[in-house]
Amino acid sequence: MGIKVTKAKRSRIGSVDFDNLGFGEHFSDHMLSMEYAGGAWSAPEIVPYGKLSVHPALCSFHYGQLIFEGLKAYRRPDGLALFRPRQNFERLNRSAARLCMPPVDVDTVLEGLVRLVRLDRKWVPRKEGQSLYIRPFMFGSSNFLGVRASDAYRLLIITSPVGAFYKAGFNPVKLCTPGGYIRAAPGGLGEAKTAANYAASLLPAEEAKRRGFHQVLWLDARKNRYIEESGAMNVMFLIGDELVTAPLDGTILPGITRESVMEIARSWGIKVSERPFTIDEVFAASKGGTLREAFGTGTAAVISPIGEIAHGDARIVINGGRTGPLAQRLYDEITGIQYGTRPDRFGWVMRI
Ligand SMILES: *Cc1c(COP(=O)(O)O)cnc(C)c1O
Repeated sequence: MGIKVTKAKRSRIGSVDFDNLGFGEHFSDHMLSMEYAGGAWSAPEIVPYGKLSVHPALCSFHYGQLIFEGLKAYRRPDGLALFRPRQNFERLNRSAARLCMPPVDVDTVLEGLVRLVRLDRKWVPRKEGQSLYIRPFMFGSSNFLGVRASDAYRLLIITSPVGAFYKAGFNPVKLCTPGGYIRAAPGGLGEAKTAANYAASLLPAEEAKRRGFHQVLWLDARKNRYIEESGAMNVMFLIGDELVTAPLDGTILPGITRESVMEIARSWGIKVSERPFTIDEVFAASKGGTLREAFGTGTAAVISPIGEIAHGDARIVINGGRTGPLAQRLYDEITGIQYGTRPDRFGWVMRI
């Protein structure tokens, strides 16, 4: 396939301190761009990373047709690799369908992404736990005011070298329920990876931070009792010998890390249940001594242990506020598969 490549005149990599990358602060030299018009996508083009020139009437500014993805490229002893990238573009297409946007051809975009990462391979960092974060996103690009779906779209992929999430070991997070706010209601946008869900989450997250918590633990919109997810993570609870997580009922984001964790845990003989469960069940399990661990799952942190949860005036501390053995074992297994130090038992790694 013809991918047109226009190279940057000079690389900016010399200005980046790879010892202090942070998250999403630096962007590599190139980006991938595709345009949809007249009912068809153009071939991917790779161009220098740079500013976009857009019209003030850009419809996605006004009506929010904007979806995105997040995945990573890893530097391994045997070269570069992506982790289950096809899943991300299939999910992008499901998000697109919900927001009246056109699907992309997964193979075409994946081929373009591989070219992009290879071209900017020097930007894939070398130190333990670091990676190249990849952010595909798509938005309506017609210029008009009026509530209808755009007829033109733009897909861009930008990449950003990011630091190790856990520099000084795991740091379990403290969560609180959002006291009346909701993230997504049945029939809404909850299972689409779209900016609107994050817009809805900013105020509750700020209020949680002001109260000394890291993030909000979302409850369902109808009853305000069922646990859904948290921030950019799905959540799981080890109650007795059962690993419990919310089912994909349309209001939570179907995480790729979530699915990977479930598959690995099942392969270890752990009982994994996708079922509705309430904040009351978790607090009762804590009181009864059967709540053993809780953690979030997502691409950025992989596994994020949960040390404390507050709900109204009640608080529980989980596993003494420390990282539990299952969270640690899952983290070691998944990062081992990603960085090539453990066997890829499920065929999840795409070497590039
Ligand atoms: C992206 C995301 C996740 C995690 O998905 P992964 O595919 O595991 O990275 C969870 N919840 C929300 C709201 C998200 O946007």
